[in-house]
Amino acid sequence: MMFISSGIECLEKCLETRVLIVGGGPAGATAGRFLAANGVDCIILERFPGQTKPCGGGIPCGAFEELDLPENLIKNKVSSLRVSPPKSGPFEIAFRSGYIGIVERREFDSTLRDMAQAQGAVVMDGEFLRFLPPENGRPERGILCEANRGGERIMVRSELVIAADGVNSRVRTALGMKPMSSLYTLGAKLPIDATMMEKNCCEFYFGRFAKGGYSWIFPGGASVSAGTGSTDPGRLKPAFERLLEEKGAAPAAAIQGTRGYRIPLWEGQPLMKDKVLFAGDSAGLVMPFTFEGIYYAMRSGQLAAQAIAEGDPGLYRKLWRHRFRSRFLLMKGLWRAFLTTESGTETLITAFRDERVQQTAIKLWLNKTGERGSLASFINVLRKKVLF
Ligand SMILES: Cc1cc2nc3c(=O)[nH]c(=O)nc-3n(C[C@H](O)[C@H](O)[C@H](O)COP(=O)(O)OP(=O)(O)OC[C@H]3O[C@@H](n4cnc5c(N)ncnc54)[C@H](O)[C@@H]3O)c2cc1C
Repeated sequence: MMFISSGIECLEKCLETRVLIVGGGPAGATAGRFLAANGVDCIILERFPGQTKPCGGGIPCGAFEELDLPENLIKNKVSSLRVSPPKSGPFEIAFRSGYIGIVERREFDSTLRDMAQAQGAVVMDGEFLRFLPPENGRPERGILCEANRGGERIMVRSELVIAADGVNSRVRTALGMKPMSSLYTLGAKLPIDATMMEKNCCEFYFGRFAKGGYSWIFPGGASVSAGTGSTDPGRLKPAFERLLEEKGAAPAAAIQGTRGYRIPLWEGQPLMKDKVLFAGDSAGLVMPFTFEGIYYAMRSGQLAAQAIAEGDPGLYRKLWRHRFRSRFLLMKGLWRAFLTTESGTETLITAFRDERVQQTAIKLWLNKTGERGSLASFINVLRKKVLF
C-alpha cells in the first residue's frame, strides 16, 4: 500500500490497494483474511470498530472447524431447542451431537479482523462515502472511492471492491441498487437470570407473538439475547412485549439498549456488479426460515476471496451457486409455502415433532460439509410429513 498525491483538489490522500473491502464484520473480515493469506493486497475499511451488532450470535459448531476459528470465542454451547408453534404446545429438540456456539459479536468481529491483520490485510477505521468518477476519464486506472477517516476525507484506488457493509449497504446505494426487502427485528440483551431459562437451550416461537413472525431467546455467556422479527414493523413492539411478559422479564421500556435492526430477505440478489463483489448481508445472504447469517457471511467472504485470488472474480458466482444455492432455494420455498400463514406455520413447525425430521434438520444446520447428502435426507423426511 502507498500514498500517492490526489488528482482531486479537496482530497489530500489517495491509498492504493488491489481490493478495497468495505465493512469489517464477519463477511469483510473473512474476505480480508483469505485474500491476504493468498498474497492479495487488501484494505478492510470499518466505520464502527467498537460497536456491537444487534445479533443472537448463534453459530453452528461445524463453522468453527470449517473456518478455523478459535473456540475460545464461544461463550455458551447450546445443545437443545425449545420450539413453540403458533397454536399447539411447545416441544424440545435435543441434539444427538454437536452444538450451537453463542459468541459475543463485538469480540467475535474484532477477533476476525485481528486474524485478517495477522495474515497481512490492512485494517483501517473509516467510512465508505461514495464512488468517484474515473480520474481524467481513465477507468483503467481502477475504482476510486471516497472515505471519511476520523473527519479527514481520503481516496482509495483499487482494482476491485468487496461490499461487506451489511443490510443497509451504502455501496449498493452508491451503485443505484434498490434497498433490500427485510425482516424487521426488535431485541435486547437481558441479564442471564432475567428469563428463568435453561442455559443450554435456545427458544423459538413461530407466529406466537407476531403473526407471520418469530421470536427467540438465545442464552449467551453473560446475557440472554431476546428478540422478535416480523416483515411488518408495526407488529414488533407489542410482540416483543408479549415475549418478555411470557418470560417474566422486565417490560421493554425498562430495558436499556432495546434496538431495532433489519435482517435481509434472500431474493437471489446479484453477487457482483461490474468490479464490485457483494458478500454477506449486503448480498442478502441470510438463510430464509432460520435467519442464520453469520456463517453465510463468512463463507461468502471466503468464496469471493478465493475467486479473486484465482484471478477470476466472476468465479465467485459459480462457487456460491454450486455450494449454497440449492439450500437457499429449498428454505425460501418452505418460507413461501408455509410460513406466511398461521395454518401453514403450524403444519410445518409441528412436522419437527417427528424425531427423524428433527435429526436430519439439526445435522444439516450444525455441520454444513457433506451438504448434498444431508439436504437430500432432509427433503425426503420432510416431504413425507408435509409436502406430499
Ligand atoms: C437481531 C438479530 C439477530 C441475529 N441473530 C443471528 C444469529 O443468532 N445467528 C446468525 O447466524 N445470524 C444472526 N443474525 C444475522 C447476522 O447478524 C448477519 O447476517 C451477519 O452479521 C452478517 O454479517 P456481515 O458481515 O454481512 O454484515 P454486518 O455484520 O452487518 O457487518 C457489516 C459491517 O460493515 C460496517 N459498515 C457499514 N457501512 C459501512 C461503511 N459505509 N463504511 C465502512 N464500514 C461500514 C459495519 O459497521 C459492520 O461492521 C441476526 C441479525 C439480527 C438483526
